[in-house]
Amino acid sequence: MDGIGVFVCHCGINIAGTVDVEKVVEETKNYPGVIHAEDYIYMCSDPGQNIIRERIREKKLRGVIVAACSPTLHETTFRRTVASAGLNPYLFECANIREQCSWVHENRQWATQKAIRIIKTIVEKLRLNEALIPIKTPVTRRALVIGGGIAGIQASLDIADAGYETILVEREPSIGGHMAQLSETFPTLDCSQCILTPKMVEVGHHPNIKLYSYSEVEEVSGYVGNFKVKIKGKPRFIDFDKCIGCGICLGKCPVEVASEFEQGLATRKAIYIPFPQAVPAKAVIDAEHCFYFQTGRCKICEKFCPTEAVDYNQKEEFVEEEVGAIVVATGYELYPVEKITEYGKGEYKDVINGLQFERLLSASGPTQGEIRRPSDGKIPKTVVFISCAGSRDPEHHLPYCSKICCMYTAKHALLYKHHIPDGEAIVFYLDTRTAGKDYEEFFTRAREEGKVTYIKGKPSRVIKEGDDLVVWSVNQLTGGKIQVNCDMVVLSMAIVSSSGVLELARKLKIQTNAYGFLSEAHPKLRPVESLVPGFYLAGCAQAQKDIPDTVAQASAAAAKVLDMFSQEELQHEPLVATVEEDICSGCEMCISVCPYEAREIKPKNGKRVAEVNEALCEGCGACVAACPAGATQQRNLRDLQLSKMVEAAF
Ligand SMILES: Cc1cc2nc3c(=O)[nH]c(=O)nc-3n(C[C@H](O)[C@H](O)[C@H](O)COP(=O)(O)OP(=O)(O)OC[C@H]3O[C@@H](n4cnc5c(N)ncnc54)[C@H](O)[C@@H]3O)c2cc1C
Repeated sequence: MDGIGVFVCHCGINIAGTVDVEKVVEETKNYPGVIHAEDYIYMCSDPGQNIIRERIREKKLRGVIVAACSPTLHETTFRRTVASAGLNPYLFECANIREQCSWVHENRQWATQKAIRIIKTIVEKLRLNEALIPIKTPVTRRALVIGGGIAGIQASLDIADAGYETILVEREPSIGGHMAQLSETFPTLDCSQCILTPKMVEVGHHPNIKLYSYSEVEEVSGYVGNFKVKIKGKPRFIDFDKCIGCGICLGKCPVEVASEFEQGLATRKAIYIPFPQAVPAKAVIDAEHCFYFQTGRCKICEKFCPTEAVDYNQKEEFVEEEVGAIVVATGYELYPVEKITEYGKGEYKDVINGLQFERLLSASGPTQGEIRRPSDGKIPKTVVFISCAGSRDPEHHLPYCSKICCMYTAKHALLYKHHIPDGEAIVFYLDTRTAGKDYEEFFTRAREEGKVTYIKGKPSRVIKEGDDLVVWSVNQLTGGKIQVNCDMVVLSMAIVSSSGVLELARKLKIQTNAYGFLSEAHPKLRPVESLVPGFYLAGCAQAQKDIPDTVAQASAAAAKVLDMFSQEELQHEPLVATVEEDICSGCEMCISVCPYEAREIKPKNGKRVAEVNEALCEGCGACVAACPAGATQQRNLRDLQLSKMVEAAF
């Protein structure tokens, strides 16, 4: 193809600071196939896009290249621009002269030469591009939400309230997540359960929400708009429909086990309802600890159940659901204290984590809201709070800031003083980060109203001496050593991604970062979308965050789902793999390398050939590289295009 127009962007000084854009225009103007080249300060701006439209019409351009930033940022923008001027959007290409050139070079002359070569390679590619039309697929207007914390609850309610059926899968016996464990919430100190419980109940009764609690996603197949999901229901050993949640069985069960909800500070029975506000409020038998399952004797719960709901023969159950979009809201966990050897490795009963302290503060907690030491029930008169336990410690633990700990530590210290006004609260901190609406004011309140002592320093050790715990540190402001004897230590443990999230991400074929948090498509412009179409992210599954941010992100994910459901048909990128049937030997190599299961072998004209499911293909190119016969090509990135691009570069 000839008739190409090249538009070179200055991107302010992002490109023009290093690359001589005028020279780039001069050099590309005369390259074969190019009939027009010009530069502009911001090509993505409204006037910049208008220039492109006008030139397409004036010069009858048959292809357009914008030499600017990465295609991940503005490919869609410029495809829309050229389409609005009547050009096929696949006859547009980005030449990345910012991220791959001006940002990574300092020498102006070399950077300018490199920019020219990048553009020439893209001209060669574009000359062989085909005009394509997007692949159209139908959309199933039902959503799946994985994880029933506040993120999953909010996303489910928003989608369901808009009139679409929503499947909510929660792996624990109840929804609620960590918010259900909190006492009061910063910065307003509302009671966590009081604001969460109504939403949990709404989920339980919503006509458009199908709740699968104590269940997990086993398999996902299909593609955006058309997923098939296999859900595994774990056996509760309770007939769900018969159980009325009366709790009689709980009173009779002879087995006591550490309660997960109470963070090990209280016990539960082997048959249990996780907490009083649980949704669904149905019992579950923990077979690992139940006498009957372990010894073959007992069955007390069965004897006393007034509705004959106990069913020891229940097995795992599998159901299949069809959905169009999936929101992943699997939340977070705390970095295990056992990994922090310097603070007692979890062996000192009175060194506890933030969630345990939440339970001590909670009126429905193990001490009915009285703060008492786990070891002996004594009221702790001096409590040390240690921030950044595991966070911001790249040498020993995790490099990142857990973001919410400064705020909940201030909350803990303030609430401690509300409960024990004559007690002493000492916070060891590295820095305090209180960015958020009304957060700094809350922090000031904690320090002033609570008379909390803040010491800048990271304790090096916590040891036990008799009845006391001793915290060793250095005051970073004075340089002096500090030794504090106290009754209890509360560690603000780092936030980590939920266990099992990597396995789930593999099943869903979505990406995670190095720490297991789910990766968004773009950190600024597409923060709730995953890189794989049809998957949306909400809450701490994507990154550590507080409740307001979690709820905002969950509603944003729901809005994206609703945007998809508002469309008659979905459009899928036509930049997919193709197979030349005459050359294909049916060797199946492409099937084993395809990460999207977009390949099948089918009989055709008396032989076996590979076929591409275009709706599933994401155009990653793995099959193209693997095909030994060269029968597989990728649209608009064919072998011939690649070799022409390489030739143009040298
Ligand atoms: C000590 C402490 C105090 C805090 N105090 C405050 C506060 O005062 N104010 C505030 O704004 N924030 C506070 N936070 C932060 C708050 O807890 C989080 O912002 C919020 O809970 C995040 O909700 P989420 O739904 O993303 O995650 P979670 O609450 O972790 O919920 C995730 C849910 O997903 C489920 N799940 C996980 N994996 C799977 C799977 N594979 N399949 C199905 N289900 C799965 C989990 O069982 C869980 O129910 C505090 C945090 C801590 C640690």
